[in-house]
Amino acid sequence: MANGSSDHSESFVKIPPIKFTKLFINGKFVDSISGKTFEAVDPRTGEVITRVSEGDGEDIDLAVKAARHAFDHGPWPRMSGYERGRILMKFADLIEENMEELAALDTINGGKLFSLCKVLDIPGAARILRYYAGAADKIHGTVLKLSKGLQGYTLREPIGVVGSIIPWNFPTIMFFMKAGPALAAGCTMVVKPAEQTPLSALYYAYLAKLAGIPDGVLNVVNGYGETAGAAISSHMDIDKVSFTGSTEVGRKIMTAAAGSNLKPVSLELGGKSPLLIFDDADIDHAADIAFKGIFFNKGEICVASSRVYSKGIYEKIVKKLVEKSNAWVVGDPFDPRVHQGPQTDKKQFEKILTYIEHGKREGATLLTGGKHLGKKGYYIEPTIFTDVEEDMIIAKEEIFGPVMSLMKFETMEEAIKRANTTTYGLAAGVITKNLNVANTVSRSIRAGVIWINCYTAFDLDCPYGGYKMSGFGRDYGLDALNQYLQIKSIVTPIHDSPWH
Ligand code: NAD
Repeated sequence: MANGSSDHSESFVKIPPIKFTKLFINGKFVDSISGKTFEAVDPRTGEVITRVSEGDGEDIDLAVKAARHAFDHGPWPRMSGYERGRILMKFADLIEENMEELAALDTINGGKLFSLCKVLDIPGAARILRYYAGAADKIHGTVLKLSKGLQGYTLREPIGVVGSIIPWNFPTIMFFMKAGPALAAGCTMVVKPAEQTPLSALYYAYLAKLAGIPDGVLNVVNGYGETAGAAISSHMDIDKVSFTGSTEVGRKIMTAAAGSNLKPVSLELGGKSPLLIFDDADIDHAADIAFKGIFFNKGEICVASSRVYSKGIYEKIVKKLVEKSNAWVVGDPFDPRVHQGPQTDKKQFEKILTYIEHGKREGATLLTGGKHLGKKGYYIEPTIFTDVEEDMIIAKEEIFGPVMSLMKFETMEEAIKRANTTTYGLAAGVITKNLNVANTVSRSIRAGVIWINCYTAFDLDCPYGGYKMSGFGRDYGLDALNQYLQIKSIVTPIHDSPWH
């Protein structure tokens, strides 16, 4: 089955029944006001798994009212950080207790590898919660000795009701990247998952209630971007929007926020990340990093190393990449032998195949892959292009799929210049043993994260986000927590002040 689609005739895992399909508002699962539903699809086959309630502006409004009430009058922002942290710890435990079922939901609905969900996505969610649970009781202001006989102190208060709009490529991690810090800060939330992957978020809403998160604090409203998503970004009673998705939609969200109540937004957007391999790199190591940098999670990762540059060892790297591609197994994501499942949905699948056609038409050489696999489902071969020019569409635009562009460079200065020849600035990688080169490249590339001799090396304590049109604001680390807090200064005269 190397580099071929499985026929899905084998049953690798018993897929659990789908328990939650309604909207979660004010602590209850409810139908949408319109009564409308939409399909949740299995990308392995293109078949409908179930139908999910479709929220729109009216449902968002209801959820915002619940979140507003919970913020203005409820216990969540008022309880001690320690107490909030304990509840979030319980939430994390419940996620781990339901690991298999949650992993199956992201696999059946998002085409993600079941094995990976069990070691990365689902335990990752629990870790995010625990990280921020531990920070919840360490949110401090500062004491200020001021002029003219005044003294003051600052409070760092939760920002209020947070609207969170997330994409489909990491349905679980994205949910908690936003919910972890926002809940720890004492905010209340309305989360809109991506319409392609609505299932696991509803399960998290159920677990949140079980853990003791009060009603109204965490609301989940599934629906489409133009309706439910747009209602969040323009809502007058939402105090902040936290978004991950495309640059195009990020722009719409910022415009809507500016046109309503001027709510602050944080945007994690697209990328076209370069990986620079220098001649002193170990060939095997470099090829491995380059390959996984793009083909991990079927290329549906915003930091994907979609542009790979090398110099004198170019031919050797090419040879290794072909070997790796031949050994890469595409197929049913429940199959433990598989490395790459189907693309998340039909639209994305077709978009990627169109990009591959652009690459061929513009004169790039198709080294490996290029075709879809199987009779049903959204499987695409790992695809590598050589002879790619900077002005080709495949070198400029984010494909968000398993497509790598290989290019050559001559000097370090040229490599840096070309790495920066993009409107994006999310991530970059450099592979070299030369400290000087590593330092120069990492300081010269305008991107939010630079990986030296590794790639996609995320850590919870390491802030992550974009430069340029890849957005602004940071997820992960204490920087993310700060985005859900605002500073209040309190000033008072001391005994010998002229104010007395
Ligand atoms: P998208 O921007 O179309 O959708 C993301 C979310 O925004 C979805 O929940 C969608 O319903 C919602 N949305 C769509 N239109 C909206 C509107 N007008 N108002 C409010 N919300 C709206 O993104 P996509 O095509 O589904 O996902 C792929 C893109 O997401 C890629 O560009 C990728 O780079 C980006 N992405 C970025 C990161 C990151 O961390 N920077 C992570 C994952 C995906």
